[in-house]
Amino acid sequence: MRKISVVLVAVVLSAVCGKSFSQKKSATYEVATWHGFGKGAISYTFDDNCSNQLAVAIPLFNEFGFRTTMFVPSDWTKDWNALQKAADQGHEIASHTVTHANLGGLTKAQQLVELKNSKEIIEAHIKGFSCSTIAYPYCVPGNDSLCAAYYIAARHCQGYIEPKTPADFMKISSLITGSTSSIRTEKDFNNRVEKTDSLNGWCVFLIHGIDNDGGYSPTQSTELRLHLAYMKQQGSRFWVATFGDVVRYIRERNAALIQEVSTTKSTISLQVTDNLDNAVYNFPLTVKRVLPTGWRAARITQNGKEVEAKISQKGKLKYLIFDVVPDNGKIVITKAAK
Ligand SMILES: [Zn+2]
Repeated sequence: MRKISVVLVAVVLSAVCGKSFSQKKSATYEVATWHGFGKGAISYTFDDNCSNQLAVAIPLFNEFGFRTTMFVPSDWTKDWNALQKAADQGHEIASHTVTHANLGGLTKAQQLVELKNSKEIIEAHIKGFSCSTIAYPYCVPGNDSLCAAYYIAARHCQGYIEPKTPADFMKISSLITGSTSSIRTEKDFNNRVEKTDSLNGWCVFLIHGIDNDGGYSPTQSTELRLHLAYMKQQGSRFWVATFGDVVRYIRERNAALIQEVSTTKSTISLQVTDNLDNAVYNFPLTVKRVLPTGWRAARITQNGKEVEAKISQKGKLKYLIFDVVPDNGKIVITKAAK
């Protein structure tokens, strides 16, 4: 978790002005490591557009209310309508290059075509959607700066669970599942998820074939179903989200600056800002603050609209937990009866 103390601003000011002053105790805000204060983030990613991904896996994930990322080679894609439907249901449609190219064997000019065109083709077909991440075919990374010119992150396949902030957003590790891997059964999936909790990290599963669709390293849908039922039972302990949303969350979490602008007896106004591109980085961060003394409840708005908020209790202290989007307007916390 990242604690941001408003007191810090006062300390810096006093140092600059060269005079000391007694400061009243100011509130500390905490940005959740993972959305909703989950213990770990889990992403399910699908490569190669294998036929049972849309026919079997997407309906299965929809049934449990989880969103996935589909890395599709744009040349291999026949059914754009089905992908549009998945996008409309909240799944991420992302790049796996145009031709499923081994980027390591290409010149920079050839890589550029694979990177740029796949993004443009996906965005031309999938309405209201920006293609912002890529997975490297054959687990062979391309040129870092070229990839970073078109994508906010790239998925690699090193087989480890990422820490809360990956060392390299252009080489995010993933864990291959299915017949060629050690992740085949419900228990295998569950074990990796439990390890993610203990690491407070981010686990990206890489799934290819489903059942008998002819895809690489098939994963059995029966095992996936049992695992997803297990995940559902965990409630908010894990944050299951698309690859792109987890990247957005991490970068916003690490860049966020929270400042109280003004307070009255019944209101607190604050700003949450970051230095990131607002067109891309617009995912809500989960923030926690102590409920002011004497308050029983609160309502929270951002830019005039009510935001998701709840109260949690730890010992004698009550906390307000709420979702806000950085750089998306003033946030007002208002005392409420209940
Ligand atoms: Zn592939």
